[in-house]
Amino acid sequence: MKDIRALHQLALERPLTDLCIFLTSYCNLACKMCSYWKEREHGVSYDMVLSLLGEARSLGATRFHPFGTEIFTREETCITLYLSAEL
Ligand code: SF4
Repeated sequence: MKDIRALHQLALERPLTDLCIFLTSYCNLACKMCSYWKEREHGVSYDMVLSLLGEARSLGATRFHPFGTEIFTREETCITLYLSAEL
């Protein structure tokens, strides 16, 4: 098994291919087995989302994975997805 420093170095040398950003914990449902909908918080700011998309693009990322609860409860989601198509 490789030591932790070697694994860390391997991770740093691996090219960036994907960007994942948590967009929101808002949800328009309230499923009994879930508690995320109670948090009602958005993830990073829209400016930060744009900055991360730009950085990821310049580092070679080609895929964007938005995640969270119901991401379309965040009003910037559509424009974020539109801009992420440039990855
Ligand atoms: S996040 Fe998913 S599981 Fe939770 S309340 Fe919303 S739809 Fe239900």
